[in-house]
Amino acid sequence: MLLPTNTLLMTDPLRLVRPNILALEPYATARDEFDGGDISVWLDANESPYTNGVNRYPDPHQKELKKAIARLKGVDEACIFVGGAGSDEAIDLTYRIFCRPGIDNAVAISPSYGVYRVAAAINDVKYREVMLADDFTLDTDSLLAATDANTRLIWICSPNNPTGNAFDTDDLEALADRFDGILVVDEAYVDFSTRGTMLSALARHRNLIVLQTFSKAWGMAGLRTGMAFACPEIAALYGRVKYPYNLNGPTQREVMSRIADGLQGHVEEIRREAVRLSRSLSESGCVEKVYPTDANFLLVKVSDADAVYHRLIESGILVRNRSSMAGCEGCLRVTVGTPAENDLTIEAFARIGRGDAPLAKRPERKGSTDRTTSETSIEAAVNLDRSTESAIDTGLKFLDHMLWQIPHHAGIGVRLTCKGDLYVDEHHTMEDVAIALGDAMREALGDKRGIERYGFVLPMDESRAMVLIDLGGRIDLEWDVEFTREYVGDTPTEMFGHFFKSLATAMRCNLHISARGENNHHLAEAIFKAFARALKAAVRRDPFNDTIASSKGVI
Ligand SMILES: *Cc1c(COP(=O)(O)O)cnc(C)c1O
Repeated sequence: MLLPTNTLLMTDPLRLVRPNILALEPYATARDEFDGGDISVWLDANESPYTNGVNRYPDPHQKELKKAIARLKGVDEACIFVGGAGSDEAIDLTYRIFCRPGIDNAVAISPSYGVYRVAAAINDVKYREVMLADDFTLDTDSLLAATDANTRLIWICSPNNPTGNAFDTDDLEALADRFDGILVVDEAYVDFSTRGTMLSALARHRNLIVLQTFSKAWGMAGLRTGMAFACPEIAALYGRVKYPYNLNGPTQREVMSRIADGLQGHVEEIRREAVRLSRSLSESGCVEKVYPTDANFLLVKVSDADAVYHRLIESGILVRNRSSMAGCEGCLRVTVGTPAENDLTIEAFARIGRGDAPLAKRPERKGSTDRTTSETSIEAAVNLDRSTESAIDTGLKFLDHMLWQIPHHAGIGVRLTCKGDLYVDEHHTMEDVAIALGDAMREALGDKRGIERYGFVLPMDESRAMVLIDLGGRIDLEWDVEFTREYVGDTPTEMFGHFFKSLATAMRCNLHISARGENNHHLAEAIFKAFARALKAAVRRDPFNDTIASSKGVI
């Protein structure tokens, strides 16, 4: 239904809610019924009393996490819903809150994200699509023309998946004004866009819902955490309809810690790479057009989408074939990868354009070791070319926390388990873990063909760490670090120097580490992060160069 402009600013969104949802008496968890007090014995939720990190139910309202999100986004906590199956959970709940099955309908742009349609079907809600123009621009009049008295939702994805373009926020606000239902704007890719967010429009439009996610720019797709932002009345409805513990405890903690780490410059790198990838792919003989993007992917129109798709697979590169989608005929959707991955993609497209055979694939560089002595038993494995599936358990919790910086910040895979004689002390565990890790790294580096060899990293955070690395084969450690505490957590600080000495010896590398900082935890963390960043730069393999980075020809 269409309404004259500006009559709706004060419209009560609750009027649009399904009657059964408005009348709902939500499930009250054990923790809901208790409102503060000095409790030391928790016998209210039939949990296991044995502490293991996950034996207690998590906060069903995710108060701490919402505080962090509120700070990050500049939005009131009362306006936030956090979903435990990503923003896909919010999409499903939106239908459940507003659309009467078999009666109401939703209108969406096309081509767009497929989950809106599937979630509509699951909820028995009719789904109407309005095609974007040939250049993927949006005509809000034709969208409104597709609505009727039973249209509860309009879905707009901006930047839009798979077309990559963002819509004008003023146009979207005007649409919210004119629509007598709920406008949902899915901003999954907004962190990559320079076109602005609709979050600041929430205060002006109580019929607006904005979806965002930690899955894309924030690099947490595996944690399945998405958000809906809306006026407090709608946000409270999500809270009532969701399953009580929809976001598990480890995920809440992990997301908070990664929010604190920030975006680490990855967004700028992806944006730069998107420009480079777009220019380079346009030059390939098989590419007809690369559409402009406000996101971390490119929609690429090629001469024969199925053929190019399969030729890319032969080169070990998987993209999304969107050519069967109306409006995307002949198109592939290509996610922007790391600079090295983009180099390979550019080369693969160039070869396909010329009709050349695919570049021979290089095997991944892996190394592993099983090391058992009377003091420790260690399994270590590294993969320098793939960051998936890391696992670290040395028995020392703080050391584990430090070692996790290596896969996180070097972008490599590390699996490391140690059963050590911690009842004696931490010495053997720390020394032997370093040796095993270094042995696995040395094996993975192999003949070191094509590697950059050197890595440099300079200041980080309020603690500063400088790490220089040379993988040339000479063994040395320069260690200029002073801790002021004997222990951080369960880990002795005097052992860190020895740890890096053992690691450098086993890896056969030259390491210069100097660091300063007030807080010993941050100081150690800055060292491990900087080490990981330097390592990342040094092990990086030039995909087109197979020579050895030394004037002597061997390192
Ligand atoms: C990836 C994506 C999402 C889903 O994100 P999750 O939070 O991982 O569920 C939502 N909307 C669009 C348009 C996406 O491309």
